[in-house]
Amino acid sequence: IKSKLPYVTHHIFSEMSALATRYNAINLSQGFPNFEPSQELLDLVGICLNDKSMPLVNQYAPIAGLPFLREKIAEKVHSSYGIEVDWDKEVTITVGATEGISATISAFVWPGEEVILIEPCYDSYKPAVDTVGGKTVIYTMKSPDFKIDWDEFAKLITAKTRMICISTPNNPTGTIMQEEDMLKLSQLVHGTDIIIMSDEVYEHMVFDGKTHESPLKYDALRERTVSVFSFGKTYHITGWKVGYCIAAPELTVEIRKVHQNSVFSVSHPLQKALAKYMDISDDHLKLPEFYQKKRDLFSEAVKGSRFKLLPCAGSYFQLFDYSDISNENDYDFCVRLIQEHGVAAIPVSRLYTDFKDDHLIRLCFAKTDETLLKAAALLKEV
Ligand code: PMP
Ligand code: GLN
Repeated sequence: IKSKLPYVTHHIFSEMSALATRYNAINLSQGFPNFEPSQELLDLVGICLNDKSMPLVNQYAPIAGLPFLREKIAEKVHSSYGIEVDWDKEVTITVGATEGISATISAFVWPGEEVILIEPCYDSYKPAVDTVGGKTVIYTMKSPDFKIDWDEFAKLITAKTRMICISTPNNPTGTIMQEEDMLKLSQLVHGTDIIIMSDEVYEHMVFDGKTHESPLKYDALRERTVSVFSFGKTYHITGWKVGYCIAAPELTVEIRKVHQNSVFSVSHPLQKALAKYMDISDDHLKLPEFYQKKRDLFSEAVKGSRFKLLPCAGSYFQLFDYSDISNENDYDFCVRLIQEHGVAAIPVSRLYTDFKDDHLIRLCFAKTDETLLKAAALLKEV
């Protein structure tokens, strides 16, 4: 069979997690918490599954998602960012952020059209573009500050550019885009048909008093942006695979056509539980402080190691530079770190199309303090 994705041979996050299990290493590779979500939220799932006053809760949910959940999302986006969102016409519940990303790309990218990716970035963007016959054009952010030089970026835009994929906070670098970035982006796309796919799954993990900048906040970007979010990150439930996207009505209509014919709709009881939970919880307000403390605990605990830590302004990932320790490529270094030192990380080269290797590894600090302290002690021995 002629593969549309010949380069997709394995999944780096699953591979490193599996190696961590095999060697009984502390798993700071794949991004997921090793602590439990809120008990109230878990209890709500049981209630929703069993409540006979909601007889259809175990049957198909509406295509776009439960109205009450979408209302709650619109309220949250308004209170967080001051953005007016029409819950009915602009919010769609998806199977995690991953489906939001692929549905957006499928809905708008035609064969031969160009999609600009900003690397390093999450690994699902490029395969989604390639599956629909689009062409990825890569802008490479440079270590160690991973800033976007918008003048350089502008040179990549052509008459064929259909979409720009951005991600803030960024996985894996932990950098965030700020107002000046959004203004530069606004200028670049002004007068074009370019759509922005904005991956904002780490929206509530922005530290040191900075704010999350969503393109939806900017008038010039609002009409052309699809913002993608994930309950997995915000409520510590990556295994539920429930997310949502927000986009202007004309864009949402097209995204829903793809969604309807790929997954149709998303788990009904989980949506119900999430809606009820959003109604009573303000957990997201506590996340910046919660994760900033973990970032600080971890970086403090590894002080004295031979790793150099890069700045982390957001997300739950910390980059470590190991160039003072070894000349190995980052993949081999990660394998050895698991086998000989008992800690699993992600080789950052795997998040570049060309496997650019700056001797950086990514460690996830969405872990209990105890796990982070144990891992730090092991890392100090490397
Ligand atoms: N985007 C980024 C940047 C991510 O890190 C992840 C998951 N770790 C996703 C999207 C996918 O989110 P979900 O699990 O909700 O599909
Ligand atoms: N987003 C997670 C990470 O970056 C992994 C998601 C996945 O494994 N599909 O580690």
